[in-house]
Order: sequence, then structure tokens, then C-alpha cells
Amino acid sequence: MDFQYFDSHCHVQGSEYDTDRDDLLTALAKSKIGMTVVGVDREASQSAVALAEKHENIFAAVGQHPTDTNEPFVMSAFEILAKNPRTVAIGECGLDYFRADNHDTARATQIPLLESQIALAVSVNKPLMIHARPSKGTMDAYSEIIDVLKSAKREHGDMLIGNIHFFVGGIEEARAFLEMGFTISYTAVITFANDYDETIRYTPLRSILSETDSPYVSPAPNRGKRNSPFAVVDVVQAIARIRGENEETIRQAMIENATRVFGLGELA
Ligand SMILES: [Zn+2]
Repeated sequence: MDFQYFDSHCHVQGSEYDTDRDDLLTALAKSKIGMTVVGVDREASQSAVALAEKHENIFAAVGQHPTDTNEPFVMSAFEILAKNPRTVAIGECGLDYFRADNHDTARATQIPLLESQIALAVSVNKPLMIHARPSKGTMDAYSEIIDVLKSAKREHGDMLIGNIHFFVGGIEEARAFLEMGFTISYTAVITFANDYDETIRYTPLRSILSETDSPYVSPAPNRGKRNSPFAVVDVVQAIARIRGENEETIRQAMIENATRVFGLGELA
């Protein structure tokens, strides 16, 4: 399938789209916008796979979000989802300390959950979709994920790759992920905040993915409203503006990068 844009991380299986999902997905397919629909728990992962099986332009990521700790991580259930040929990544998984009351308690449950999903990604040979959100004013979630990934890389080498979604780290964190062969993705936050400009310019074009994280973070004119994967167009424009590069160059690179990271070439 030839895409015009690729949204590497969205949640269009969510209830926010229950009233108009079919219309939205039809419009997105017509505009040749490809996307990876990401699960945050077992049910959302199952719905992501179901959408991916039905739509040529949709692929699935299956996993359990670090703050989704109400249900246990059932490896056997996720294994089945992970092996589905329409599943192109494992996650979102990672570490999230933004709202944690106690860092040590949160860490004690989140690290094993992340490690289970790293093991799953290696066993099915698919990339990780990493979520990292540090506690306010720190980079704690990033530095810990870097440590976890570094030791996993020592064991698994090039078998372990992935994308760091909704990147809010700095140059130092970006460099650590890039050295491990990971990509970094940006949402429409970059249409209204300039905190990430330096990192966007620092990161080689080959290592950037475009995403929307819909329904969250709408671009500038629609802030606060429900977002959609159409906003990936705004993200591409913002990356071009920030890097001072041609929009067409960025548009094509985002498709090439997603195709490479998610192995879409073999699925087309
Ligand atoms: Zn997400």
C-alpha cells in the first residue's frame, strides 16, 4: 500500500471514536494515511488487532501501559496477539512516574511489566513501542528505561529495537536511544511548544517517526479537542519547519522510517 502519511502511534480503537469511527477510518484510508493503532491493555490490544485485520492501512501494537496495573499481564494472551501478522510492535510499555505517589512502589510494579514485554518483543522479533513519562522536573523514567534497555541489548543485541513515543527528553536521552538503534517520535505538541526543537534538529531524519497519540494532544488550532490521525500532516509540517527542510522530504522520510521500523514492506 502506498501511504501519503504515517501515524506511528494512535488509539482510534478508543471509546472517543465510538460514534464516528467508521466514517473517520474511511476518510483516513481515502487520504492514504497509514497508522499503528496502539493497545494500552489486553482489551485495547485486541481491538487494535481487530481493526488491523479489517483495514489495509492499519497495523497494531499490543501491550500493557505502565500505569495500567489493575489487571495482571497475561503473557499467554499477549503472545497470541503479538504473533498476529498484523501486529507490528509490542507496547505501549515503559515507565510512567508523572502521577506516581511513591516512586519506589511504582518502579517495583512497572519494571517487571516492562521486562516481560521486552522478552515478548524479542521472542516474536518485533520492535518495542516505548512510553516514558518522568516525574515533574526530572528525567527519571528515561534514565531507568535507558538502563533497562542497555542491559537487554547486551543480551539480545540487534534483536531489540523500537520507538520512543511522545518524546519529551533532551539531547542526552535522545543520544542514548539513538545509540541503541531506537527511533524517536513526536506528536502535535511540537506545533505549539518549542521545547523540543533542539532535539528534533539533533536527531538524524532517519531516526524520527511521526505520530499523533490521538485522541490526545490536538495541534495548535484545535488544542483541547479530540485529536485524529489527520493531525499527522501538521506534525510533518512542524518537523519540516523546525529542521528547515523541505516538507516533501520529511513526508517521504516518515513513511520510509515507519515502513522500516514496523517491517511494513513484508506486509504490503
Ligand atoms: Zn499512546
